[in-house]
Amino acid sequence: MKELIFLEPVVKKLIWGKEYWTVSAHESGDCLVKGGSYDGMHLSEVWSKHKEVFGVESDGEFPYIVKVIDARDSLSIQVHPDNEYAVKNKDGQAGKTECWYVMDCDRDGSIIIGHNAKSREEAQQMIDENRWDDFLREIPVKRGDFFQITPGTVHAIKQNTMIMEIQQSSDVTYRLYDYGRLRNGSPRTLHVDKSLDVMMIPHKDALCYTNGVPGKLVSCRYYDVDRYDISGVRDFEKSETFMIISVLDGEGGIDGRKIKAGESFIVSGGYGDFSIFGRLSIMVTRIPKLYGGLEIGGSKMVCATGYADGTISDRQSFETTVPAKSIPLIIDYFKNKEICALGIGSFGPVDVNPDSPTYGTILDSPKIPWQHYPLKKVLEEALNVPIMVDSRVNGACLGEMTFGCAEGMDNVGYVTIGSGIGAGMAVNGRLVHGMGHPEFGHILVSRLPGDDYKGSCPFHPNCFESLASGPAIEERWGSKAESLADRPEVWEMEADYIAQGLMAMVLTISPRKIILGGGVMAQLQLFPIIRRKLCEKLAGYIHAKELDDIDEYVVPASLSDDQGIMGAIQLGVLAEIGRD
Ligand SMILES: [Zn+2]
Ligand SMILES: [Zn+2]
Repeated sequence: MKELIFLEPVVKKLIWGKEYWTVSAHESGDCLVKGGSYDGMHLSEVWSKHKEVFGVESDGEFPYIVKVIDARDSLSIQVHPDNEYAVKNKDGQAGKTECWYVMDCDRDGSIIIGHNAKSREEAQQMIDENRWDDFLREIPVKRGDFFQITPGTVHAIKQNTMIMEIQQSSDVTYRLYDYGRLRNGSPRTLHVDKSLDVMMIPHKDALCYTNGVPGKLVSCRYYDVDRYDISGVRDFEKSETFMIISVLDGEGGIDGRKIKAGESFIVSGGYGDFSIFGRLSIMVTRIPKLYGGLEIGGSKMVCATGYADGTISDRQSFETTVPAKSIPLIIDYFKNKEICALGIGSFGPVDVNPDSPTYGTILDSPKIPWQHYPLKKVLEEALNVPIMVDSRVNGACLGEMTFGCAEGMDNVGYVTIGSGIGAGMAVNGRLVHGMGHPEFGHILVSRLPGDDYKGSCPFHPNCFESLASGPAIEERWGSKAESLADRPEVWEMEADYIAQGLMAMVLTISPRKIILGGGVMAQLQLFPIIRRKLCEKLAGYIHAKELDDIDEYVVPASLSDDQGIMGAIQLGVLAEIGRD
């Protein structure tokens, strides 16, 4: 289907200024098509009767509203619910995630995003006492800034600001404060209780770019938004699904149509390659891609789908048995999910070298039925999507680096201590590979005086895993770790071996953070002892601000045990863009 859909904006006059709904099929403002094959039809009608235009199969409503917001005066302080809350409270089918591109504003313009309350009680008190200056976080804005406003974020656009907004198709807004303004003599309704219900407390910073450069602006479960600056001609690759192009600045043309700042239009799914020319900045909104993640452990495997922002949309767990039984379950799970790529975090050893002819094959695993099983090859043939494979621990490390407590850090170590010991490591922002993946669990540690346990590793009596894994604890002390919680001597010894392992990591890859996961680390009493012993062993040799704050340096995993599967989804994201 080759069609450009231009629409007549719906104009809304509001107490504070005007809104132009430039692309919308919402019942509160359903745009009419202007010209072309569907001239005069409402966008909602084209959406419901001509799915081929959009290249998507969806029973739901058209997913977006694009608006130009021209705020002469400030908008009310507001907050939006997520889908779940909106449905539960019969306020609509969709919550509202929105994003803003600042097209114009005053020189000393500002915007409100977030609040300063630490607890719900404090928020309630600040609101009751009308302490809005203390409560609200006001930040400066300039042209070209971009903000993602997730549900639960307190926000307001301030006076003399022009914004291009992309949002979920919803008009559910809870108004928290309206500066005491009157409309036709009376104040607009406030929704303080609902606002407090959905408000994110404490506030977590939304994604924002204030450096005004082109590139990926946001990729979340509702939309993918990119900005392109064009001077001359720029070619765009075809897409099976529709996209919305919004002109932020300047003017130009597409296939004989003129386009200018403030306009948005739809390029149909299957339109084919196209070019845009002129001197202009545009924002392109696309349906977000769905990624698959697979985490295979020795006893359990997790299959999931999710988005580039780490949202998991679906998941299912199976027992890991033999390939003949496990692989069909994996293929069945992903077959009809329309994922665009798959990331795998696998038990090892596994070939993680993308240039190797056996990339993604399980190597000499102690799990005999899986030995030399070409995992990646089999799944690639069945699912026909790009796949990236790494070790489970590297996957978990990537999860923490992308979505968790090590977000944005260059050098990171993730150590899992459970039935075995392994470590995922990143150096200079990339997961460590080489001739294979690291086998950090088998570094040598010094046996403590009086510890005559033979060791659990069949290869090395004195390796880290041999002396500190879950099975080592159980065999040495005669019962499982969980039942030894009140035996301090157990944890003194265990923490010493772990601190020895961590010291080696500190001294080699110089991580900015070390994250400890796995079954044994559920014994949280270990953390303070490990931190103390690590400092003692380093004996003041290394000076770094990270080590000065040791409680933030050696930490438990931060993603509620989802670090592995979220990392696997991120491997899928990397597979799709073709880099490791
Ligand atoms: Zn809003
Ligand atoms: Zn060993």
